[in-house]
Amino acid sequence: MDFSLTPEQHDLRLRARAFADALLPYEVAAEESGGKVAPEVKAEVRRLAQEARLIGGNHAVEHGGQGWKMMEHVIVHEELGRITNGLWWLMGGGYNVLALGTPEQIESYLLPTLAGERADAYAVTERNAGSDASGIEATAERVPGGFHITGEKWFVTSGDHADYLIVMANVIDGSNRLPTLFLVDLPLAGVEIIDDPTFTHVFPDGHPTYRFDCVVPESAVLGGPDQIGQGDAGQHAWFVEERIHIAARCVGAMQRLLDEAVGWATTREQFGQPIMDFQGVSFPLADSAADCVAARLLTYQCAQMFDDGAAPKLIHARAAMAKLFASERAYVCADRAVQVWGGRGYMRRNAAERFLRELRVDRIWEGTTEIQRLIVGNALVKRGVSATLAVDTRETV
Ligand SMILES: Cc1cc2nc3c(=O)[nH]c(=O)nc-3n(C[C@H](O)[C@H](O)[C@H](O)COP(=O)(O)OP(=O)(O)OC[C@H]3O[C@@H](n4cnc5c(N)ncnc54)[C@H](O)[C@@H]3O)c2cc1C
Repeated sequence: MDFSLTPEQHDLRLRARAFADALLPYEVAAEESGGKVAPEVKAEVRRLAQEARLIGGNHAVEHGGQGWKMMEHVIVHEELGRITNGLWWLMGGGYNVLALGTPEQIESYLLPTLAGERADAYAVTERNAGSDASGIEATAERVPGGFHITGEKWFVTSGDHADYLIVMANVIDGSNRLPTLFLVDLPLAGVEIIDDPTFTHVFPDGHPTYRFDCVVPESAVLGGPDQIGQGDAGQHAWFVEERIHIAARCVGAMQRLLDEAVGWATTREQFGQPIMDFQGVSFPLADSAADCVAARLLTYQCAQMFDDGAAPKLIHARAAMAKLFASERAYVCADRAVQVWGGRGYMRRNAAERFLRELRVDRIWEGTTEIQRLIVGNALVKRGVSATLAVDTRETV
């Protein structure tokens, strides 16, 4: 295993780090305004990300993306994870499934999305289908010229800002229900937000609930008619990628939590000495350091497996391990940091306090901790213990 960065990757890290550093001064205002960021701040985030060539890492260069390897995603997401209030999310980008589009869809959706002219949101989860996405009830029935989509979608991140949705619905084909992704342009008669709840974290965009009773043209099937029934495969690819991203962002969060807590603990004095001199303070931070490095190595190694073309099922299990471990440990690290900060750690203007709320969702979205454990448990049985644990990628191809 060699995790040394190429000169280009090192340059990418520096660009991503500078971008993250430039966003830190906006955090407290974003927190205090309930996530509502001024349009000029949004434009500035977008401009900085464009300048640093950070938008669309998951898309091909010819589509306006960056064409990164997974290791490059990890390098960037580690830096993004240092930022609170989801400010980095404002840079935009397009979900990876858009690359499955027909040439016309690439032209009308992917290209303008990466250019910042359009905005997407991904709608899979429903009232009765969360962890078990196979239980989705939204249907798409054929009607002359298109499909009649009915159903409800929950937690549609950025659904309040998107101008189109990527919607999973079952095409009804006799007794078969074929999971399919649709591109639904907004506004559209019969598509409405029916709830827009507030959540634990303060995020720039909402996660509203949508109701659908609308007709979309045949051309709305993502990837064209051949992709009817293939929605789960697209969904699966997104999960693996995003789980690795989440793991990397949790590593970045752990690093920032340590940076700030150590800075505080070495300067704050009580009983005539820096509180870092008390083992009750330094030991939890030492544990956080171990958690951070362990999560970093696991995430890097997962990215390396991905880039080396390891067997997809082993990557799936490793990405689950990375997300599971990094998100669980990052939350513990945030709690430790709050404790080290004392009463100041309970103030919303303190990054540790914000991380304690914001990191919570990383144990829930893109598959809960329990679902990651199910994936790893299955791999232990089906792929075998050695293959599931292998760190030499030659043993996993
Ligand atoms: C802020 C936020 C943003 C989101 N954004 C999006 C989005 O943009 N698009 C989208 O489609 N979805 C989105 N989601 C939905 C998210 O992916 C789901 O919340 C998640 O998959 C869990 O589903 P659920 O909430 O229905 O919980 P449930 O599936 O009902 O799970 C409840 C509990 O039961 C446990 N559980 C369930 N099954 C098992 C099992 N087999 N074994 C052990 N335990 C189990 C779970 O781990 C969990 O603890 C978002 C969620 C949040 C909170």
